[in-house]
Amino acid sequence: METKKIIVLGGGYSGIAAAKAFQKKLGTSSYVEITLIEKNSYHTLLTELHEAAAGRVRPSALRISYDDIFKSHSPNFLLIQDEILNIDFDEKELRSASHCYSYDYLVIATGSRPEFFGIQGVEHYGFKLWSYKEAVVLRDHIHDCFYQASATDSRELRQTLLTFAVAGGGFTGVEMAGELSGYCKALCRKFAVPQEDVSIYLIEAMPSILGNLKSSIIQQAMKYLKKLGVEVLTNCSIQQTSGKKIFLSNDKVIEGTLIWTAGIKGNPYIQKADIDLDHRNRIKSNQFLQSIQHETVFCAGDTISYLYKDKPLPQIVENAMQSGETAALNICHILEGKALQSYEPKFHGSMISIGPLYAVAMIGKTKVTGILATLLKHFVHGHYHFHIGGPMLASEYLKEQFIVKYVDPVISKSSEALDKQVTQFL
Ligand SMILES: Cc1cc2nc3c(=O)[nH]c(=O)nc-3n(C[C@H](O)[C@H](O)[C@H](O)COP(=O)(O)OP(=O)(O)OC[C@H]3O[C@@H](n4cnc5c(N)ncnc54)[C@H](O)[C@@H]3O)c2cc1C
Repeated sequence: METKKIIVLGGGYSGIAAAKAFQKKLGTSSYVEITLIEKNSYHTLLTELHEAAAGRVRPSALRISYDDIFKSHSPNFLLIQDEILNIDFDEKELRSASHCYSYDYLVIATGSRPEFFGIQGVEHYGFKLWSYKEAVVLRDHIHDCFYQASATDSRELRQTLLTFAVAGGGFTGVEMAGELSGYCKALCRKFAVPQEDVSIYLIEAMPSILGNLKSSIIQQAMKYLKKLGVEVLTNCSIQQTSGKKIFLSNDKVIEGTLIWTAGIKGNPYIQKADIDLDHRNRIKSNQFLQSIQHETVFCAGDTISYLYKDKPLPQIVENAMQSGETAALNICHILEGKALQSYEPKFHGSMISIGPLYAVAMIGKTKVTGILATLLKHFVHGHYHFHIGGPMLASEYLKEQFIVKYVDPVISKSSEALDKQVTQFL
């Protein structure tokens, strides 16, 4: 029997779920070759990026080696580290800078990237929070701002250095703003700069933050953000930024650092390929998570554009994991000559942490807030670690969250290099 080549492109939450599902179903089949292609040597825990960006956990805790995830993989499984630059769907080939990989069936699981909506200056000047590197760059920038603030006699300059505007009042923006508050307090102590010179804004274009949650939960989140010193601006959008200056729709100008969490779109490399995309670069799919154009191509996670019960699928981990499994299962069904299965996700709720000690959550119809919600979130994250890497990884997670003490970056650059960097920022 001719060997069938299956490629999973992208080793995030959905790609790992798909690769594991293939191994479970086809791991012993000699006529199938399963390959996972991922550009990094590690899986990034995107849901914890804000914790590293705010110096609460070590950045290394965000990276999980694929060797730990696929320790006992099946003999027909191959992991390749490479970045795919284009896909030729007619030839059924994935192309990187140096290699070409052919497939019979493909799962595209390459996640998403920030969307800037063409707002002038945002892509160039705004700090992003969608990868390990971006979290580290942001953390170091915040630290450098405090270092510079401690060295200046100008209050005006100090206040500019210590002003942070988080754009986007969705889950990521709220989590970042909450975490930032704790980091700023720690850095005020470290550099002996006055807390009253720090300003943190959370800017949302819609009438409310956390738009699709219950209003009572939103009120509690707003109250806690206020307690942390975060000023929430709703019905307010960013018009443009020229670096230091951030121009708002209410005619106000904020001078400081812009952290952009306001929108996402599919990974831009896919635009070069001949496949139907929606306006946010997501692949148009049917109920089986199959590309509407190419029947041997399936989508998983943030890459899917499909209306489930008339609503777009949420770009969250639960959707990523479940869609990865369904995409894999449907390819197995094709190989076995069975009917394809419609995607029927089951979402259990939302959990949003606001700093290390408080969270708001909706589990089904039950509202949970405060430390209990924080513990629930730790349980869910710990469970994910256990699911992908067993007890070792789960214990690493707990150690990082509860035992390793607060860490913030050591300045490794010369002060001259820092001066240059902050001067450029200003
Ligand atoms: C800061 C932050 C906080 C979040 N918090 C939550 C939360 O609390 N709860 C929640 O449910 N969701 C949260 N999300 C959203 C969640 O992380 C995403 O929905 C989820 O990661 C989507 O999984 P995915 O597999 O589609 O993509 P990803 O997990 O992004 O994986 C995509 C993978 O593809 C790889 N890749 C991309 N392009 C290529 C290429 N050309 N070649 C090779 N490899 C490639 C990437 O390196 C990556 O490993 C958060 C996201 C962020 C950024």
